[in-house]
Amino acid sequence: MDDDSKKLHAKAFDIQTTYSRIDHAFTSRCAICGKEQTMRKIWYQSRGKTLSELRLQFNRCEHCGKWVCCDCYLVDDGHGNGAYEGSDICSACAKERGIIGLTVTQMLAIQAEQTKAQEATEQKEATARGQPS
Ligand SMILES: [Zn+2]
Ligand SMILES: [Zn+2]
Repeated sequence: MDDDSKKLHAKAFDIQTTYSRIDHAFTSRCAICGKEQTMRKIWYQSRGKTLSELRLQFNRCEHCGKWVCCDCYLVDDGHGNGAYEGSDICSACAKERGIIGLTVTQMLAIQAEQTKAQEATEQKEATARGQPS
């Protein structure tokens, strides 16, 4: 990513972000559902550093350039491919194109389920190994 597009992305994020002088906190809103994430600016941390950390809570849609939360960002078509032409897309752009897929939140839930199932299997195997034959 070149510096110019980095700046543009930061600017798009800035537009969705407000700063409260009272509690020294930045609040960003998802461009689609409006869900808010807040990050307090710590005195030893610069504004840019705080904002870039807050940005990690959001996902940038390459198609409309907006920043959206994990509930509004499709990362998979449900078959292990990207959401749209191999890349990620926000739910608004996906809707326009008639695409359905899984969001970051849904993918994380699936991964958590798989990890749990995996652990249960390993536990079972360990128990089986531990039993005298
Ligand atoms: Zn959202
Ligand atoms: Zn989009």
